[in-house]
Amino acid sequence: MLASKMLLKTLKDTPQEAKIPSHILLLRAGMIKNEVSGVFNYLPLGLRVLRKIENIIREEMDNSGAEEILCSAIQPKEAWEESGRWSKYGPELIRFKDRHEREFCLGPTHEEIFTTIVRDLVKSSKNLPLNIYQIQTKYRDEVRPRFGLMRSREFIMKDAYSFDKDQEGLDKSYQNMYDTYSRIFDRFHLKYRPVLADTGSIGGNASHQFMALSEVGESDIVYCDDCGYAADVEKAEAKADNYQMNLEPADIVEVETPNMRTIEEVSSYLKVMPKEMVKTIIYYDNFNKQFVAVLVRGDREVNEIKVINAIDSTENDLRLATEEEILGLGSIHGFCGPIGLNIKILVDTEVSLLKRAIVGANKANYHLTNVCYGRDFTGQVGFFRKACGGDLCPVCGKPLKQERGIEVGQIFKLQTKYSLPMNCTYTNEKNEQVPMVMGCYGIGVTRTLASIIEQYHDDLGIIWPLNVAPYHAVIVPINYKDEAQQALANELYNTLTKAGVETILDDRDAKPGFKFKDWELIGIPYMIICGRNSVNNVVEFKVRTKVEEKQELPVEQVISTILNAVKDIR
Ligand SMILES: [Zn+2]
Repeated sequence: MLASKMLLKTLKDTPQEAKIPSHILLLRAGMIKNEVSGVFNYLPLGLRVLRKIENIIREEMDNSGAEEILCSAIQPKEAWEESGRWSKYGPELIRFKDRHEREFCLGPTHEEIFTTIVRDLVKSSKNLPLNIYQIQTKYRDEVRPRFGLMRSREFIMKDAYSFDKDQEGLDKSYQNMYDTYSRIFDRFHLKYRPVLADTGSIGGNASHQFMALSEVGESDIVYCDDCGYAADVEKAEAKADNYQMNLEPADIVEVETPNMRTIEEVSSYLKVMPKEMVKTIIYYDNFNKQFVAVLVRGDREVNEIKVINAIDSTENDLRLATEEEILGLGSIHGFCGPIGLNIKILVDTEVSLLKRAIVGANKANYHLTNVCYGRDFTGQVGFFRKACGGDLCPVCGKPLKQERGIEVGQIFKLQTKYSLPMNCTYTNEKNEQVPMVMGCYGIGVTRTLASIIEQYHDDLGIIWPLNVAPYHAVIVPINYKDEAQQALANELYNTLTKAGVETILDDRDAKPGFKFKDWELIGIPYMIICGRNSVNNVVEFKVRTKVEEKQELPVEQVISTILNAVKDIR
């Protein structure tokens, strides 16, 4: 490709809206163009990378035995009503009506449609197991689209769905996808970790997320180096800290805590540690039309996902109770406690182990000390706090570590969550209709692209791994008008291109420094500079991973180095 013919415009300055490296560099390198918030157009260089990423995913999916289809983004309301998700899915679902007032949505995911396809086409167990996938555009009306391709309103996903006769079959399909995903993310050279995950709005009973490790990640993961336990903090559990194990219960004492509402205020006033106190957080659950109090230790945070799962509500239906609502429950904001509170109470295990807890008295300016679960109040005990680094591993008891990650893939065991209500069945040996057992498997294709940049960049720009780079090599003549330079550059370009090396010839009429900066920003792995020594068939050779090193080499040596690298690409 001749640089003069490319649709290419790099930016010198960082666009104001971009906050993280991948967003900044994709815009600056002219790979994407922003139209409205959270919606992007892929320009030629960006699209080349995207296609390579898709093809690696496609190759590994095909090798795993899965088969590709392509569905519409437009999905009818009826399918979502059959699964029960039309009412449960929140405002992230983009809904619209056609001219006949029929309702539709733009798919954020495709469980319903894949289930419908298999239900209508597959009747016999002879066709099972089945794994079908697509690489397709998804829509999600994010409250606050941000971080470029990380959290956008339109994004490309690979989604696969497996259909098996039974649990044993699903276990095999799931393991097959787990292994396939590991191969895919290995090929992207990503540093990643598969972690146990919550199943969220997709449903089902087992799930792993594939997390690309990154400071800019929006997910926290905890892991244990000793036994390999790793989980998203929403899913993670930890051994309960039972530090009051040897204390004897004592009589409740009401203490005055004038205007002290926070854990910090009360604990320093009473000269106690935050972990001796209990936070009583009151929520309103709009799905089940009920108030719920959640109790965690003063040094802990409530894990709302665990709460939602425990009460069978949804993320969009759970909110904090207002001060008026709390008054209506006979309590007062800042002084809430479990004693005398007549609503559903969820008690974190650690709170249930305290012998002498300090809780709000449900009246202004008072707290109660020496409160003991079982004796003074009850509730549903479970894991309702957020695990964090330093907590003890739930499996082996060693301290957990914490890291940030970008969710690039997630796999789920759906079981019969969709096949049962949607009647996706097969006929078994006894001539009975049995629901198929399903799994679903997603990869955020555009988010993976951004994650590669997050892990592979420096001050100058992107450092693409060779197998996803938009082009492998760029030839930069110092002065293209110079006869010897032009002749060598053209010859080199023809040789490399014929040999299958994706090559750019920078024939632009611009200063060499300007050209170098462009290709370093874009992240082309190999740069060949044709300068004064062109008459002797000697060029300068730069590898993007080691920009500081510039070698003067005979042309033949440069050609063989590049050919060797490119022939091993996969
Ligand atoms: Zn462990």
